[in-house]
Amino acid sequence: METKTKLTSHDYIEREEKYGAHNYHPLPVVLERGEGIYMWDVDGKRYFDFLSAYSAVNQGHCHPKIVNAMVEQAMKLTLTSRAFFNNVLGEFEQYITSYFGYDKVLPMNTGAEADETALKLCRKWAYMKKGIAENQAKIIVCDGNFHGRTITIVSMSNDPESYGGYGPFTPGFIRIPYNDINALAKELEDPTVAGFILEPIQGEAGVFVPDEGYLKQAYELCKKNNVLFIADEVQTGIARTGKLLACDHEEVRPDILILGKAVSGGVMPVSCVLADDDIMLCIKPGEHGSTFGGNPVACKVAIAALQVVKDEKLAENANRLGEIFRSEMRSFDSPMIELVRGKGLLNAIVIKNMNGKTAWDVCLAMRDRGVLAKPTHGNIIRFAPPLVINEEQLREAIGLIKQAFEDIRNS
Ligand code: PLP
Repeated sequence: METKTKLTSHDYIEREEKYGAHNYHPLPVVLERGEGIYMWDVDGKRYFDFLSAYSAVNQGHCHPKIVNAMVEQAMKLTLTSRAFFNNVLGEFEQYITSYFGYDKVLPMNTGAEADETALKLCRKWAYMKKGIAENQAKIIVCDGNFHGRTITIVSMSNDPESYGGYGPFTPGFIRIPYNDINALAKELEDPTVAGFILEPIQGEAGVFVPDEGYLKQAYELCKKNNVLFIADEVQTGIARTGKLLACDHEEVRPDILILGKAVSGGVMPVSCVLADDDIMLCIKPGEHGSTFGGNPVACKVAIAALQVVKDEKLAENANRLGEIFRSEMRSFDSPMIELVRGKGLLNAIVIKNMNGKTAWDVCLAMRDRGVLAKPTHGNIIRFAPPLVINEEQLREAIGLIKQAFEDIRNS
């Protein structure tokens, strides 16, 4: 008789390696369950999640209100496409536009799609409203940006890991240093510039927080030059940095706002672009869309996920606990910690290699202690737990993170 043997972590990892494309390099841990701030591996070991699926799971894993919304709608109607109306899309559109204060929303699925949507919208606006000659519109982007993985988006990148080997690239972008207001002012003199797209804090680049006042000044310069200020808040949005939007820290209201990830609490891909009529109505029926964008399940999930953010005061929590995280880690004496930076619960520690030990080794040591995080750009570790974490849990996790640094020191 055939006996079923339980697969080990090693078996799961080998299977992925064998049958999956090698476009990621995951930390060796195999997860099978999540609840709130925790995840469990296939051996039943519990971990604090300090990545939150790159800030998609701000509301915590498998939040019951979000999962229930999903299941209830999934049993009624999942997809109509946009060929027909349905009884849920309008409810979502009304909810999210009043939540963020815009006239209109355009729903998509992934962050990259929402970014592409914003770029198309900006170009359309340039030709229809600003009067730029056909095919001449330019969009300013920043060094170190990360907006996703499509050909057009990697055309905006100066990271060889993103763009290398994928040319020819989409033209029409001007790249300037991030956090450099003079460079922006200079490029804005070009009358064919239609938009400036940026992350209000650069997440993938390693949590680069611009100088105070940069966003406000950049916004005002854009206004002066009739250029759209486009904020990619796919990672920073939805309470992550201690305000609903990172732009809220400087009371900047983007002309085009791009959201993704935590719009659904990590339950399914939901993204969108928000703008006022003058911009959004430049795209006409048939000119842009997505089969799954704005599907009824996504709509119900997003409403539930955004409501949780308000009901559970996640922005306030992120703001308060982020201060504790940074002050604890800054006062912790470790030869491997070069710098601690961030806002709210989007933080990073820049690692100094020691005796051949790198940020990767720190992440392995944290994993062994029960905390999951991942290096970005080799020597930077991002710390972004679900925003439903409380102070006691955060302090416990900080204790484990410090122990992991000590483990490496003593190894
Ligand atoms: N924009 C930003 C700022 C991001 O951080 C990311 C993903 O990390 C994206 C866009 C792309 O989102 P997605 O992976 O859902 O396409």
